Amino acid sequence: MHGLELLKKGAIWRIGRGTDVKIWRHAWIPRGFELKPAGRKRPCRLKWVSELIDEESRRWKIDVLTRYFHQHDVEVIKKIKIPWRSSEDFVAWHFEKSGYFTVRSAYRLGVSLRDIDSNLGSSSSHPDGSRPVWKKFWSLPIPHKVRIFAWKLIHGGLATKANKFRRKLEPTATCSICGSGEEMEFHAVMCCPHAKSLRDAMRSCWPIPGEKELGLTGPEWLLNVINTSDPDAAAQLILILWRAWFVRNKWVHEGRWINGKTSAEFLSSYWDSLSVIRQGEANDSKGKRPMVVTTIRSIERKPKVSSTWTKPNAGWVKINVDGAFMEGSEDAGIGVVIRDSSGSVLLTAWKHVSDAGSAEEVEALACKEGLTLAAEWVTLPSILESDCANVVRFLSLPERQGSPSSFTIQEALEEAAKLPRVEFHHVGRELNSVAHSLAQLARRLNHSAVWRNRFPFCVEQLVARDVNPSVN
Ligand SMILES: [Zn+2]
Repeated sequence: MHGLELLKKGAIWRIGRGTDVKIWRHAWIPRGFELKPAGRKRPCRLKWVSELIDEESRRWKIDVLTRYFHQHDVEVIKKIKIPWRSSEDFVAWHFEKSGYFTVRSAYRLGVSLRDIDSNLGSSSSHPDGSRPVWKKFWSLPIPHKVRIFAWKLIHGGLATKANKFRRKLEPTATCSICGSGEEMEFHAVMCCPHAKSLRDAMRSCWPIPGEKELGLTGPEWLLNVINTSDPDAAAQLILILWRAWFVRNKWVHEGRWINGKTSAEFLSSYWDSLSVIRQGEANDSKGKRPMVVTTIRSIERKPKVSSTWTKPNAGWVKINVDGAFMEGSEDAGIGVVIRDSSGSVLLTAWKHVSDAGSAEEVEALACKEGLTLAAEWVTLPSILESDCANVVRFLSLPERQGSPSSFTIQEALEEAAKLPRVEFHHVGRELNSVAHSLAQLARRLNHSAVWRNRFPFCVEQLVARDVNPSVN
């Protein structure tokens, strides 16, 4: 692939006003490879992205999106944050976090595209995602959240150790369950021993494709399998992969191990419920439908305090902010705590965020919220502390970035300009435990509040320990 072609593949529009961006022709949807919409659900005369935005509320017109776009496109589009104020659209480089073009990421993109082309000749003839295999994918009998998981899996968008390592969010790419091998998507859901044994167990009751057909044939291995399997078998395979990823997340994020027997039983009864629903839908659309409810309650780990938070100098305040985001969940939260030079709490705030797109975006929103509250209530020289290194870098060097959060960063800086002076500091998570707990609170309870001169009971101990580390 030639240089210019490659550049076109990696260029993405960031939506400010949307008046320069063509809905169906331009690349503007931030996700894996397919940056354009997958196609129209029905004939559509709309041409510009601005026509999808409600000018008054500065929000996406969800009814218009659901009318013309496939559901999985709607999911991604509604997470794109529209700036408060009408701003210029601009072009950024999709394959680098900062949005700036680098030779290294262009090289990686070139390699991936070459692999896709050589493994699936059909991809170049239907570059817009309208390939027949996608039609089949969308009609598989799986719940929406499972489809979203599979979509991310196909596009290399799961938060695996390898992906996080590449973005410098993890010190190593090694799988933390088996310790052997890099945790790429294929390892996490296919090769890791627990994933393999779950698949083996399910083989006795489900007719999923044989191991030989499940090799890593390239980035689109799963699409290849879907292409050649009957819809039920493909759906069942995806459910197994989805469960393996769930088990992995429980272990990595909560330290809880779910054994294979529990997973196998869960999958069997889940499939039965799905079949009942399908029959119900087919036979009688008015009849009562059984509900499939999977409760995934997160258990918060207590933040470890190994080093200590420091008070700001006299005359200054410190704003600690944090974001809570879980891959695959719609709900996110942000937490803010502002303290003076004696360590007294001037303000605590937590805010629920819906339709969050990424952890980084939530961290950027947290910075903006912290600065907005400080500008409104405190107006003293301020130190903003966040444990997200990228966002702190973006705030410090705003002219050098075009990331998906860039409009939020601009807005945060406008708030910062209302304060006499602001410094941006990156700190370790253990120094940010109060803001962390508040963010978790917001995400968990789906609740928002601003409290002046006080703090909720759940952070009482953390606040005391920040001021006096000997308190336990
Ligand atoms: Zn492993």
